[in-house]
Amino acid sequence: MSIFDTANKYIPGGVNSPVRAFKAVDLEPIFIEKANKSYLYDINGKEYIDYVCSWGPLILGHNNEEIKQNVIKACENGLSYGTATKLEVDMAQFICENITHIEKIRMVNSGTEAVMSAIRLARGYTGKDKVVKFDGCYHGHSDSMLIQAGSGLMTEGIPDSSGVTKSCTMDTISIPYNNLDILEEVFKKHSYNIACVILEPVAANMGVVLPNDAFLKGLRQLCDTYKSLLIFDEVITGFRLSFGGASEYFGITPDLVTYGKIIGAGMPVGAYGGKKEIMDMVAPNGAVYQAGTLSGNPIAMTAGLTQLKILKENESIYSNINNMSKYLFENLKYIIKRNNFDCTINYIGSLGSIFFTREKVFDYMSAKKSDTKKYAKYFKNMLDKGVYIAPAQFEAIFISNEHNKEIIDKTLNIIEDSIKNII
Ligand code: PLP
Repeated sequence: MSIFDTANKYIPGGVNSPVRAFKAVDLEPIFIEKANKSYLYDINGKEYIDYVCSWGPLILGHNNEEIKQNVIKACENGLSYGTATKLEVDMAQFICENITHIEKIRMVNSGTEAVMSAIRLARGYTGKDKVVKFDGCYHGHSDSMLIQAGSGLMTEGIPDSSGVTKSCTMDTISIPYNNLDILEEVFKKHSYNIACVILEPVAANMGVVLPNDAFLKGLRQLCDTYKSLLIFDEVITGFRLSFGGASEYFGITPDLVTYGKIIGAGMPVGAYGGKKEIMDMVAPNGAVYQAGTLSGNPIAMTAGLTQLKILKENESIYSNINNMSKYLFENLKYIIKRNNFDCTINYIGSLGSIFFTREKVFDYMSAKKSDTKKYAKYFKNMLDKGVYIAPAQFEAIFISNEHNKEIIDKTLNIIEDSIKNII
C-alpha cells in the first residue's frame, strides 16, 4: 500500500488542504520529508528546486539557520502556555513600530482567521453589513468569503461550497478585479451599507494579477467617499513585496491589513491590524468578539519575529530576491518569444506566474483563458525534472533569498524543455 493509499484511508482526499492532492494536474501528490535552502526532498530522496516556498512565507528559504536555532531555544521553555507572553508583545510592537499604518495588531493562527476577524471588525466598526470582494481573490475559507470567483459581472451571495448557506454569503458582493466602474456602481446601488472592500492588492490566487495604476487609488477614494473600510489582505504581499508590503509598495494606506504565514516564517500564524480607533473595538476593549487558544503562540512568535527582524536589518534581501525574480521572468519572456510559446508572464517583486494563453491577464475571466491542461503537462514535466512549482495554474511562483542565478539558470533550461515537450 502506498502512502497516498494510506492517506486516503484516513484523511479526506488523502490531504489536509485540497491543492496538495494534485488533482488539478491529474497526478498523485509527492510526500516531502525535509527541505533546505531552495530545495525540497521527497520520501524517496528525490530533490526538487522549490518555487512554492510553503505558499510564500519562506522568503529566506527553507530551514534558515537563525530561525531554526531560535525556535529550538524557544522549545526548551515549553510549547504553549495559553497566557500572555512578552514574545507576543515584542511581535506586536515590532510590527506597529515598523509599519506606519498599523497602530494595533491582534495575532491569530491563519490567514483565514485574520480575514474572518477583520471583516467582523469592519462590520462592527461601521455598523454596515455588505462586504465587497473581487473575483479570483482568495481570502481563506471562512463562509462569507466562499463566493464563486469569476462567476460573471456581479455575483451576489451565491455560495461556492456545499455547506455554506445563502444567508452566510448574501452580504458578500464579488466583482471583477481592476474594474473601478463596477465598484462605483456597487457603491451607488448599496449606497452607504458597505462595511468594507477587501482585496489582495496584488492578486496571487488567480495566478499573479497586478492592479492597474488607477485601481488601488480609486478604491481608496471610493471607500473614503462612502465611509467604508479598505482592507488589504496582505497574506501573500505583506513583508514580501516590500517590508511594508503592498501598502508601502503602492503608497496606498488601507484601514485594516491582514497577514498570514509570512509573519510566522511558515509556522501557523495570522494577524489583523490597523488604526487604533478601529482595533480598540476588538474584545476585551470593545464589542467585537474574537479569541484563540493558540494565538500568539511562543514558538510561532519566535520564528516569525526572527524572520521579520532579519528582513528589517537586511534590506539587500529585497533587492536580491527582486533581482533574481526579474532574472527568472525576463529570461522566461525571452524564451517564450524565441520559441513562440502560447504563454504570458505576469510578475512583480519576487512573485509571478506563467499563464498558458497569449492574452493579457488582468482579472479572473482573463486568467481563466489559460489552458489548464497544458499547465498540467508542464507541471508533470517540471516535477519529473526536479522543479517543484504549484500543482495548479492559478497560483504563484515565489522566489526566496536562497534562489541564486545558478539555480535559476538550471530552472530556465528545465522550463524551456518542459514547455517544448507539451506542444
Ligand atoms: N488570504 C490570502 C491572500 C491567501 O493567499 C490565503 C492563503 O493562501 C489566505 C488568505 C488564507 O490563509 P490560510 O491558508 O493561512 O488560512
